[in-house]
Amino acid sequence: MPLDEASTRLADVCEKIARAAQLAGRAPERIELIAVSKMHDAAAIRPLIEAGQRVFGENRVQEAVAKWPELRETPGIALHLIGQLQSNKAEEAVALFDAIHSVDRPSLVTALARVMDKADRRPSCFLQVNIGDEPQKGGCLVADLPGLLAEARTADLPVAGLMCIPPAEVEAAPYFALLAKLARDHGLSDLSMGMSSDYETAVTIGATHVRVGTALFGARA
Ligand SMILES: *Cc1c(COP(=O)(O)O)cnc(C)c1O
Repeated sequence: MPLDEASTRLADVCEKIARAAQLAGRAPERIELIAVSKMHDAAAIRPLIEAGQRVFGENRVQEAVAKWPELRETPGIALHLIGQLQSNKAEEAVALFDAIHSVDRPSLVTALARVMDKADRRPSCFLQVNIGDEPQKGGCLVADLPGLLAEARTADLPVAGLMCIPPAEVEAAPYFALLAKLARDHGLSDLSMGMSSDYETAVTIGATHVRVGTALFGARA
């Protein structure tokens, strides 16, 4: 992707975020755009860095470990893990990522707490909620959220907020609204929700982190 195309796409997404924020009476600076670079190689990512984007999302630890050390030499880069995390990769994840959006079970809370203490590095965490109660999806059930949050707080994980991936092919807004309510009920400030097809809706409902891939990079292979 040439630099001017990357700049145009980035400007377009940022403008849409700003417009949605304005509509909702929110400060656009409060919304972090995470450029989801999974399955895109360094050559596709570099133009976006040159265009000024600094926050990126990857969904697999191994892929990120292979791709990012070099790309990361640009000052100010932040990496967010947005995909499911196995406990045996917790150490690598804590070493590489600045935020982890997929904390969804007590065993992972325990594993992360242990490696964070050991590494003395504490990426901020989002608890992922299976907001549509879909069997094939990651995330804790809505009913299990209070228990998981209590465990995360006891383990001293730096919990910033909640994350969700709503069911496909249906209106996302009610699911975003439910996630926002859960965060409010539990005194959590951050909401990771909204992808290429629905990030503007998510912003109007309170998203603080939107995870946008296709709208910035084009379709994945
Ligand atoms: C791939 C992915 C995204 C980005 O999806 P797009 O539709 O390409 O914007 C966002 N969040 C998660 C968890 C993903 O896996």
